[in-house]
Amino acid sequence: MNSKYLKSLDEGFSYQTLKLEASRCLLCHDAPCSKECPAGTDPAKFIRSVRFDNLKGAAETIRENNPLGAICARVCPTEKYCQKGCLRSGIDKPIDIGNIQRYVTDFEQKTNMKILKKGVENNKRIAIVGSGPSGLSLAALLLRDGYKVDMYEKESKLGGYLRCGIPAYRLSNEVLDYEIQRIIDLGLNYHTNTTIGKDITMYELKTYFDVVVIAVGYSKGKILEMFKDNPYVETAVDYLKRIKENDGNVLVDDNVLVIGGGDVSMDICTSLKILGSTNVTAVVYEELFEFKASKKELEDARKHDVTIIDGYVPTSVHNNTVNFKHRRLPYDLTMTADKIILAVGQTYDVENLDLKIDKNEAITKTNYQIDDSNVFVIGDISINKEKTVVGSVKSAKEALYYIKQYLGGK
Ligand SMILES: Cc1cc2nc3c(=O)[nH]c(=O)nc-3n(C[C@H](O)[C@H](O)[C@H](O)COP(=O)(O)OP(=O)(O)OC[C@H]3O[C@@H](n4cnc5c(N)ncnc54)[C@H](O)[C@@H]3O)c2cc1C
Ligand code: SF4
Repeated sequence: MNSKYLKSLDEGFSYQTLKLEASRCLLCHDAPCSKECPAGTDPAKFIRSVRFDNLKGAAETIRENNPLGAICARVCPTEKYCQKGCLRSGIDKPIDIGNIQRYVTDFEQKTNMKILKKGVENNKRIAIVGSGPSGLSLAALLLRDGYKVDMYEKESKLGGYLRCGIPAYRLSNEVLDYEIQRIIDLGLNYHTNTTIGKDITMYELKTYFDVVVIAVGYSKGKILEMFKDNPYVETAVDYLKRIKENDGNVLVDDNVLVIGGGDVSMDICTSLKILGSTNVTAVVYEELFEFKASKKELEDARKHDVTIIDGYVPTSVHNNTVNFKHRRLPYDLTMTADKIILAVGQTYDVENLDLKIDKNEAITKTNYQIDDSNVFVIGDISINKEKTVVGSVKSAKEALYYIKQYLGGK
């Protein structure tokens, strides 16, 4: 165990800071923050409850709208969602909605509230393939509505990228286990170490269940052609998985070059610095003003002395030396490192799942359903554009409507 890696970088609010932050809310009518939350978590309503010291009511608002409220509180890029809409920004700075939500869901856990309840059972059976945030939130909503749910996961533990991608200093296994246990307690029947398409076929699932939901995410890191089969190269998602599975107990290289500048890149950069790498340099295609990483993650990387070089594309590689050129300016750059990590995006792995993927790497169905079959697709791999945790919750909520409609019409 590496205690530095496991320690949360953000300690959250005390009761005093919670009350102070909630008192800054302007109590807007028709609040824009609520409209900007993809999952409809309704911050305006739960902040109002916090102001009136009704933490129980606040917890109920969060849970009724978002089955993964405690996780979203920690990992949502809030500046792109709820806080983007906050009118308080026009006066000083937006309300820290994530930390208010975190305090309230911590209160829910400490007081052992059970807000989501198992619904009256009906005889419809649903299989969910994949246990990331989209699969987990859909499972919670279906169980609440009385469906029988079986979840299939190829890894040994549930959670998808919540378990094996997002670093422990941002999302601890304790919080994740708590969220998952609440869903298991609703009656989830889960099967780990089971790969659909290999251990069980899609045909078997489609025949046995009323509905099959594919929630397999983008589970592979992309590798640019020039880096293929290079022994110095590893993808960021593979590296992050190794770090998280070992609670940060891994030996890291001293000088690391990371290529890419999104959230995954910032996660691997900060993780490596926390774990003891001396020099970590991220070379990024985008220039600083167009950076994709969330503000919080970029700040974390900077606080940990990660060097960021923006605006460069790799042109060639020889062993552990990479040449770059600037996108706009006549500059070249050559970097040599002990390790090269690629954080240039993720892609799907849908072998034997009978799925047709379009050129945008998504399944183009607005109702999440594949043709007229009993197969639905949610999460990162679906039509949903928000490739985030709260975006996954959104896709699950929307798909629930169409699944019920499909079953009702059957
Ligand atoms: C390093 C990293 C950091 C991130 N940080 C953030 C963040 O801070 N905030 C945020 O909002 N989003 C973040 N994201 C994005 C977010 O994690 C994803 O958008 C989200 O996890 C997608 O959820 P999902 O349910 O579609 O799939 P996933 O989380 O990818 O889960 C899919 C699951 O399906 C399983 N599976 C795949 N194929 C099969 C099969 N054939 N049979 C059985 N099981 C299968 C996989 O093992 C996996 O467990 C991050 C992503 C990464 C990689
Ligand atoms: S779920 Fe995320 S985006 Fe929605 S209100 Fe909470 S922190 Fe904001």
